[in-house]
Amino acid sequence: MKASIGGYARAETIAHALSLLGEANGAGRILAGGQSLVAALNLGTTAGDMLIDIAGIGALRGARLDGDRLIIGALTRHADIARDPLIGEHAPLLAKAAPLVAHDAIRNRGTIGGSLAYADPAAEYPACAIALGATILLEGPNGTREVAAEEFFLGLFETERAEDEILTAIAVPKATDGERHVIREAARRSGDYALAGLAVVRRDGRHRIGAFALGDRPLLCKGAMEAFDTGDVDAAVTALATDVDPTSDTQASATYRRHLAGVLLRRIAVDLGVA
Ligand code: FAD
Repeated sequence: MKASIGGYARAETIAHALSLLGEANGAGRILAGGQSLVAALNLGTTAGDMLIDIAGIGALRGARLDGDRLIIGALTRHADIARDPLIGEHAPLLAKAAPLVAHDAIRNRGTIGGSLAYADPAAEYPACAIALGATILLEGPNGTREVAAEEFFLGLFETERAEDEILTAIAVPKATDGERHVIREAARRSGDYALAGLAVVRRDGRHRIGAFALGDRPLLCKGAMEAFDTGDVDAAVTALATDVDPTSDTQASATYRRHLAGVLLRRIAVDLGVA
């Protein structure tokens, strides 16, 4: 099917993009890497959008340190997340997640901001963001605001971002000494979306576990986290089964996804030397 769009404009700056969004009166749609949006347009699941292309806004690209936080611009591509030394040092979870996202062609164009804004529950970065205790930075006509990643993802492809706001960056607390980051997923083939996945951060002896493809949004697995902290892996696996809320689809049943989650958690326990 040929994509049907209501127009296209290339934004020069964030302010310009916000003004184009305002002028579009609700029909504006940010175009970043285009790896999810163009597919949706071609499938006809979205149509008539006024595309506002932000790909040329240099201020939205790249990572920088700001006090005890690492700020990663929304336009930073998956391929750059994987190889940027600042990200590798201060947010290794994201660097480990990037190679799990799709294939090279998509990683060379797709952006972290696009992935977070799209909020696919099977995507890696949203679960990493909640495991890291990250913050999402938004800019709109009334200024900037920050939303904890835990509160940003509201449901299937649904977020706290208002229609007239742009996701400008993600802020991640800099990794502390001895902090450990692990991500594991099960997928049918390398590059496919995961059937189940877990992202885990161990900081100061405590664990934060983010789950993906195991609910209608990325989930913070509080029961499993508590049990993991005590070193009781069996109890963590039992708790995880109720922390997650998968559905059955053509790829896998809910029961199988829950089973996979438990297997992944046991493997992560070995990775981290828990118990
Ligand atoms: P776009 O496609 O440009 O935009 C996606 C959505 O987010 C649109 O609604 C757009 O309006 C909005 N948006 C984008 N940027 C912003 C912003 N800064 N502010 C506000 N709104 C914004 N992803 C995974 O995580 N894991 C996978 O395994 C995976 N496999 C894939 C396999 C295939 C075959 C394909 C086509 C895609 C796959 N993806 C996967 C998705 C890919 O990672 C996309 O790059 C990503 O989801 C969206 O990033 P983008 O920059 O391409 O965003």
